[in-house]
Amino acid sequence: MTRPNSFTVSAIRLHWIRIPLHEPFRISNGEVSTKDAILVELQAQGYDAPGSTSALTGWGEASPMAGGFYSAETPESTWDALRLQLVPGFLKQPELDPRRCSERFEEFPGEPFAKAGLEGAVWDLCSQLNSRPLWAELTGVEVREGQIAKPRDLASGAAIGLMPTVDLLLERVARFLDEGYRRIKIKIEPGHDVELVRAVRQRFGDIPLMVDANAAYRLEDRHVFDELDGFGLMMIEQPLAREALAEHADLQRHLRTPICLDESADTLDSIREIIRLGSARILNLKVQRMGGLWPARCAHDLVLSAGIPCWLGTMPELGIASAQGLHLATLPNFKFPTDVEASERWYVDDIITPPIEVSRDGFIELPDGLGMGYQADLEKVSRYRVRLEELRT
Ligand code: MG
Repeated sequence: MTRPNSFTVSAIRLHWIRIPLHEPFRISNGEVSTKDAILVELQAQGYDAPGSTSALTGWGEASPMAGGFYSAETPESTWDALRLQLVPGFLKQPELDPRRCSERFEEFPGEPFAKAGLEGAVWDLCSQLNSRPLWAELTGVEVREGQIAKPRDLASGAAIGLMPTVDLLLERVARFLDEGYRRIKIKIEPGHDVELVRAVRQRFGDIPLMVDANAAYRLEDRHVFDELDGFGLMMIEQPLAREALAEHADLQRHLRTPICLDESADTLDSIREIIRLGSARILNLKVQRMGGLWPARCAHDLVLSAGIPCWLGTMPELGIASAQGLHLATLPNFKFPTDVEASERWYVDDIITPPIEVSRDGFIELPDGLGMGYQADLEKVSRYRVRLEELRT
């Protein structure tokens, strides 16, 4: 298919979406019961021949958690950053090369979620304009017209929040293993750690298991990690504070279990420092936190060259950002199951079609098609929308 090369951006619509969770998600520093996301709908018009036009739409998603307990950015601050700064700046001089678009965002300080939302829409549009699937656009894999090329399927892991009782935790682990998920991650916090892991190991044996502390401990708590070190965990995610890189390096030197840094891996500079100090043996990369697919791609390349494997984490996001992250996770250094789960896992509904599905053996297969392969479901976008704003060129 040939696309006209004269596509021009006509408008951007921002849709603030709110979808309830099946149940509140609790981690060591907060709880959330609804999912907020700001969808970025980038509209472009093409002029094929005199009097004949066609339209293309790229979708992105800015997906901060409500309440800001995970990051300084909230849905409110992200909405304002998009509406008042990033989108007006973009529309003044639209840049449809997502790499250059991402570089241009560097003039704006902060706001990684807002940047990820707008940049995601540019990637989606750009891959459609180039008649390529997003994964090929992101990885640089050559896909010739008429050739059937498939990216690898992606292993999915289940993440379980802090549960009110150990029995409830075990019930959830059983359910997700039964659904085929390729590994189980459980959240821990001081006072609720070793006994949770022991209970899971006693009931389920040698399953692929990891823990996530969401930065809740201090180096003085190292006895907890010494104990956890005996359980054969895949990794211990973010045991100490975000900025405690030297302390993480100290802890890692004394543990066999790899430390995986998540909250600490928020910029390319901090990732360079993690590598330099030896603070982690695995990295959890999050597209939203890095400020988009291109910065996340650069982070992937950086840790690959340092011999550190990574995996794709989540906020978690709704379908559009999840799908785009999955396309990125086809890159070779994403070596562990992703936190992206089935659409139905967290939310009562999702705004893409088809929904993200996990096979009985725990894999996600990306759909065929140009761009991200999944479509925004416009009826659901309007059903769950709490705010709408349209900005035009
Ligand atoms: Mg984490």
